Amino acid sequence: MSQRVYLFDTTLRDGEQSPGASLNMGEKIQIARQLAKLKVDIIEAGFPIASPGDFEAVSAIAREVKGVTVAGLCRTHFEDIDRAWEAVRFAEQARIHTFISTSDIHLEHQLRLTREQVFEAAVAAVKRAKSYTADVEFSTMDASRSDLDFLCRVLEAVIAAGATVVNIPDTVGYAVPEEWGRFISTIFNKVNGIEKVILSVHCHNDLGLAVANSLAAVANGARQVEGTINGIGERAGNAALEEVVMTFRTRKDYFDYYTNVNTEEIYRTSRLVSSLTGMKVQANKAVVGKNAFAHESGIHQDGVIKERTTYEIMNPAMVGISKSNLVLGKLSGRNAFRQRLGGLGYDLTAEELKNAFAFFKKLADKKKDITDEDLEAIIDEEIRRIPPTYVLEYLHISSGTTIVPTATVRLEREGKLLEEAACGNGPVDAICKAVDKITGLNCTLVNWGINAIGGGKDALGDVTLRITMDGQKIYMGRGISTDILDASAKAYVNAVNKLVWDNRPVEKYSAVKQIT
Ligand code: MN
Repeated sequence: MSQRVYLFDTTLRDGEQSPGASLNMGEKIQIARQLAKLKVDIIEAGFPIASPGDFEAVSAIAREVKGVTVAGLCRTHFEDIDRAWEAVRFAEQARIHTFISTSDIHLEHQLRLTREQVFEAAVAAVKRAKSYTADVEFSTMDASRSDLDFLCRVLEAVIAAGATVVNIPDTVGYAVPEEWGRFISTIFNKVNGIEKVILSVHCHNDLGLAVANSLAAVANGARQVEGTINGIGERAGNAALEEVVMTFRTRKDYFDYYTNVNTEEIYRTSRLVSSLTGMKVQANKAVVGKNAFAHESGIHQDGVIKERTTYEIMNPAMVGISKSNLVLGKLSGRNAFRQRLGGLGYDLTAEELKNAFAFFKKLADKKKDITDEDLEAIIDEEIRRIPPTYVLEYLHISSGTTIVPTATVRLEREGKLLEEAACGNGPVDAICKAVDKITGLNCTLVNWGINAIGGGKDALGDVTLRITMDGQKIYMGRGISTDILDASAKAYVNAVNKLVWDNRPVEKYSAVKQIT
């Protein structure tokens, strides 16, 4: 009989640890809601003791997102565990996830603890967590480089202390599939009490093997897989959950396992995560990449036209990719617009629809055909925004090979118009300087990049940039426009708004409700 594999999504914890991918609370809640729609089993919402912002976000997700288990991560320190419980306690189903390293290399150089001390800390942490909730997960960090006998001894003890899920992480992405399968099999066959709990794995992708290792673990007894959407995460990232899900689904003949995921939400979730984190999905990425279902060779195209399955092992519709030939333009009405958005899976409020339609009309004056990709960009970048402190009202640029690039920028803040001009070594530099003069914030531009959405000379320019004020925390901004300088100004103002929002005086839970 087909067996269930539980999916533990850590996009908001490990995924958010990707360099440059910081999310604000409103964005985290949006992603969590989408993950619940996708029907993952557990959402690891964050690391509550790490910062007040992390705590608030985990707490808001626990209260607001239903139909899914919400987990908070904590080390074995009691104050970590207490804080994690405070954050997740109001979830429909709350899980505490506590961890400690078990490898000698971590024990000696990082923790400076003996194996006995680690053993005791692990057992005490699980008992503490168990005093709060029945659902306790315990992870042995750097398990793949740990002594297997010691690892098994720790696992036995934490299971006896009440852990209900034991997770075996390949923290540094060192494992290879066959060896990792044997490793998991040894744990599964040797540890007393393992049959009473769920065995889990958490694989990293440093050698590009995270998904393969996760599958090898499942074949050897694991029943929970940890991973992220688009495979984002520390360094080279985590196992991409969409790939795990689609492997089970596509190769049912080989893997007798299933997940509860609604695969039709995969593409939408991938898009949302990519747009909010600013981490682009590579074109040839399995399952969700732009080219995942594109056929270039003439022989392949001919085959697919005659019969899709000649060269396609998955139906794109199964992951929620619906391509439509319907092209919207200047004369399209609100109804056609709403219908097309519905077809793309967007469910907008009346207010959002009004704003999106206004933006669409303005765009249709400049661009003849509005494609699905354009519509997705409009919704992701223009509509799903935190309440902006500053709004770009007016932009004038003079630039060229013989003059000093100068920008005049007018922003609106609380009904007041503020205008400044500045010179720079190029027009983008001049824009940033003019905005800084208005806001009084001295931001550093960390990077700036542009992409054309779709093809054609009238394509929308999609600018992604990152700024920082303290050199630590980075804010990503995006802007789209047919004019790339206008897109740059919008992106910069968007990043500044996020910075201002993040640094506003008090972040109260009641304030979150209004923004999401
Ligand atoms: Mn990790």
